[in-house]
Amino acid sequence: KQRILSGVQPTGNLHLGNYLGAIRNWVEGQKQYDNFFCVVDLHAITVPHNPATLAADTYTIAALYLACGIDPEDSTIFVQSHISAHSELTWLLNCLTPINWLQDMIQFKEKAVKQGENVSTGLLDYPVLMAADILLYDADRVPVGEDQKQHLELTRDIAGRFNHLFGQPDQEILKIPEPLIRTEGARVMSLTDGTKKMSKSDPSELSRINLLDPPDAIVKKIKRCKTDSVRGLAFDVPDRPECHNLLSLYALLSNQTKAQVAAECAEMGWGQFKPLLTETAIAALKPIQERYKEVMSDRGYLESILRTGRQQAEAVANQTLSRVKDALGYSKPL
Ligand code: ATP
Ligand code: MG
Repeated sequence: KQRILSGVQPTGNLHLGNYLGAIRNWVEGQKQYDNFFCVVDLHAITVPHNPATLAADTYTIAALYLACGIDPEDSTIFVQSHISAHSELTWLLNCLTPINWLQDMIQFKEKAVKQGENVSTGLLDYPVLMAADILLYDADRVPVGEDQKQHLELTRDIAGRFNHLFGQPDQEILKIPEPLIRTEGARVMSLTDGTKKMSKSDPSELSRINLLDPPDAIVKKIKRCKTDSVRGLAFDVPDRPECHNLLSLYALLSNQTKAQVAAECAEMGWGQFKPLLTETAIAALKPIQERYKEVMSDRGYLESILRTGRQQAEAVANQTLSRVKDALGYSKPL
């Protein structure tokens, strides 16, 4: 089986973008692949964070993985900071990553603007940590949303550079991973601005639908979401990004094709479409929310999954780390 690795940061509530762009695809491929899914809490402190909620947010994300259908029988679920190899490999890779590769990253530029004077070195280094996450597990494929495509290319470049500098011609030390980005759902846009991606870290709650939003919050957010005054609804109209996004959400949440939705909604106005989308979103999230409640009611169960996950993940990660340190010429610890 090919190996998959992916993760989500505990920087807030999971939203429909995280679900449709990433987690739902992890669940679909679960039987086909050998899966490693982590909660990437080291990434979460690359922007200002709240120490009082970090641990609870980490458990929430892990519980949501289970609630969305990740099965610990098929997948290793773990917390990034529980395995020190992630930090250690990051340092080693830092020392062979040209700084201008990082300065060119779109996510860095976008998130740095929001931080003003307080941009941390960690934010710049985010993609190297992500490369370490992936390379530690010899992942063949990395299922992510479109926004992470550039970081994956960087991971491939870092691995290639490492192999070139420290490997033998016939022996790859780091496995070069392939992205796995679906076309549908790969870029869910904000409800308040159809040209910006939906994000956990957007200050406006109205910009996203969270997986744990109660029905009345979903009603409110869709009622207030940005639309336009054109009659009739259609995909792919260049100056109607909100219309495209909301129709896409409806298609994904109701498991219909674009063509089916285009036909169903062609003559609709917003007054008719919004309640339909609302009802569909509430129904799609209900089973996830019920399962989440169950998982959260048994802390011991969740802890046992993360403990087993850590053991399984650590065994793999430590082997890769030794291989890397050997290639770099380090002495063995005594
Ligand atoms: P933050 O704003 O803190 O960066 P985020 O919403 O971007 O949070 P991440 O934890 O950075 O979430 O990303 C987790 C996964 O979700 C990644 O695979 C990412 O590509 C995917 N993802 C994030 N936002 C979207 C989106 N709007 N549409 C599709 N996929 C997304
Ligand atoms: Mg992100």
